Amino acid sequence: MSRKILVTNALPYANGDIHLGHLVGYIQCDIWVRYQRMRGNTVHYVCADDTHGTPVMLRAEKEGVTPEALIARVHGEHLRDFTDFGVAFDHYHSTHTPENRAYAEDIYGKLKTAALIDTRSIEQFYDPVKEMFLPDRFIKGECPKCGAADQYGDNCEVCGAAYAPTELKNPYSAVSGAKPVLRSSEHYFFRLSDDRAVAFLREWTRGSNASGVKRLQAEAANKMNEWLGEDGENKLSDWDISRDAPYFGFEIPGAPGKYFYVWLDAPIGYLASFNKLAQIRGDIVIEDFTDAARAEASATEMVHFIGKDILYFHALFWPAMLKFAGYRTPSQLCVNGFLTVDGAKMSKSRGTFITARSYVEQKLNPEWLRYYFAGKSNGTMEDVDLNLDDMIAKVNSDLVGKFVNIASRCAGFVTKRFEGRLAATDAAATAAFAAAWASGSIATCYEERDYSRALREIMHLADLANQYVNEHKPWELAKQEGQETRLHEVCSTALTMFRDLTRYLKPVLPALAEKVEAFLAIADLDWHGDWIALPAGHTITPYAHLMTRIERKQIDALLDANRESLAPAASAAPKADADTSSQQRHAEKQQHAAAATEAAAAHISIDDFTKVDLRIAKIVDASHVDGADKLIRLQLDIGEDRPRQVFAGIKSAYDPATLVGRLTVMVANLAPRKMKFGMSEGMVLAASDPDGKTGGLYILAPDNGATPGMRVK
Ligand SMILES: [Zn+2]
Repeated sequence: MSRKILVTNALPYANGDIHLGHLVGYIQCDIWVRYQRMRGNTVHYVCADDTHGTPVMLRAEKEGVTPEALIARVHGEHLRDFTDFGVAFDHYHSTHTPENRAYAEDIYGKLKTAALIDTRSIEQFYDPVKEMFLPDRFIKGECPKCGAADQYGDNCEVCGAAYAPTELKNPYSAVSGAKPVLRSSEHYFFRLSDDRAVAFLREWTRGSNASGVKRLQAEAANKMNEWLGEDGENKLSDWDISRDAPYFGFEIPGAPGKYFYVWLDAPIGYLASFNKLAQIRGDIVIEDFTDAARAEASATEMVHFIGKDILYFHALFWPAMLKFAGYRTPSQLCVNGFLTVDGAKMSKSRGTFITARSYVEQKLNPEWLRYYFAGKSNGTMEDVDLNLDDMIAKVNSDLVGKFVNIASRCAGFVTKRFEGRLAATDAAATAAFAAAWASGSIATCYEERDYSRALREIMHLADLANQYVNEHKPWELAKQEGQETRLHEVCSTALTMFRDLTRYLKPVLPALAEKVEAFLAIADLDWHGDWIALPAGHTITPYAHLMTRIERKQIDALLDANRESLAPAASAAPKADADTSSQQRHAEKQQHAAAATEAAAAHISIDDFTKVDLRIAKIVDASHVDGADKLIRLQLDIGEDRPRQVFAGIKSAYDPATLVGRLTVMVANLAPRKMKFGMSEGMVLAASDPDGKTGGLYILAPDNGATPGMRVK
């Protein structure tokens, strides 16, 4: 029986570019949608920009435009990026729309009727110059534990301590610089700690949907158990769903000057986007989200694809909101992990913070990335590592070397010798190939989002097809007298195998599959109906190149295009960081608890410290060192008559050209050391995490005004 599925992807925030880290989740979801459609299921695939909140409001102000103008521009950019990567939503909406407002107001009203909305007065930091309450991420100050300057209002990036913004020493507003004052204000809360909500969530997060599939992956369900606590325990706090003006969002009905917190109306955007799609299309029945009983009768599944950073919102607040407003609840959450590049966090200084736009502009084929991401996706919340050399190897060997190779070795003979017409296929070989396919589990792998295993099975079949071609050697048959019929049969058989391999790869590589369909002159490949061999007499079109190899230099150019010339600037804060509630902070802290920082070393005396002669140094020259893969040769001016030569192990993080002219800090009295490459006359200082692997490398820079040779004490 054919399924009806509404699939949603997490809404990207309208405050920054789409980068490869985003694309992991979108590509995983798009593959699933395409697979379901090939099976004959009806799928509506929607997404939207998440547009509300303080970061959008402030960014628009900074750019001198209205928030509406900003989100309209970003909407266009996001949609273009998704389209270029083959992520084909049926509708890409916005949360700043009448549909979204209507659902938000309706849900809020029903929660209020259910006695699940409370108001209480809370004290918060207020910026008296800017005249606004400050989200935690917009308050900075000195860490209450270690005293580090310029730390955010929720946790210290130096010592890792977590605290409330009111604990910061000498706090200031990151918006205006003013000293914030405490002010109280009335806020609206969704009573998540209500016994009804706790009981419901315990059941919902552990349970299965109508098709018998667990609503949450095992890892996500475990996380929920942690957050919910033991049976009989109640660890949930109520959720603050309001923000004070000025705020870009929807004003709460009957509460002038109070707005829905961005996270209240963001997931509602899924419903709004679908509603809009139905309005546009006219041939879709609008799912009645507002009536749980009717939704159940309609048997439409609602599946949300999200990243693990927003699990808290989607597995607790969202189903509880829907449930107690009488709405239908989600059928399943599919949660993906983060992206690392070459084993490390994406880094602007290394050029691995790669935007979708730059990838397209550098003329890299988006389907290379789709194939590689699919090969790394196994349906769990594990992080995906983009290893650039491995990506080159996989694409070149699997797609070009194995898959495309089958067609390129056989098609020419069919065109030149047989006017493009196929012969009857070799029945035994075709049957053996079909049996190998039937014994596998490619379909199950796609269904369970274990694309990694699906691709391994498909490549095994590609090996079998290549083996067939290698055994029968059409290029030799072509030279032999009287082998015309055999040549015709072998090539036709190989092309039938190639057609089926294309079918299996089509959810991952839709653009390539379209080219193959044109080449083989066949209709849209799907996954149901008859699987007969291409018939004798069927005419194909002349073979044209299907896919090129990746060259390392293309990847290097991509990294160069994304490398920022200076030490990494703070990236545009995602909304989860920028506009956070205490409950969310709590969730994030649990998720980040593993990222512990190195403990401080034992005490030394001031005399010990003053033995180290630290100086401001100007980098007057920087170059690669032949034969050294970690070192950069620096010439450092510290006010002496000639610059000092220092070899610094910072090549992984810096391009020499970007270092020249910068000021940094060096140890000037370190005994000179003879190295293979020459004398090293000091050391520059750089920050890194304990194992030096995951967090990058950052050389120090003094504030404006420091000059070469100044002592650092
Ligand atoms: Zn600290």
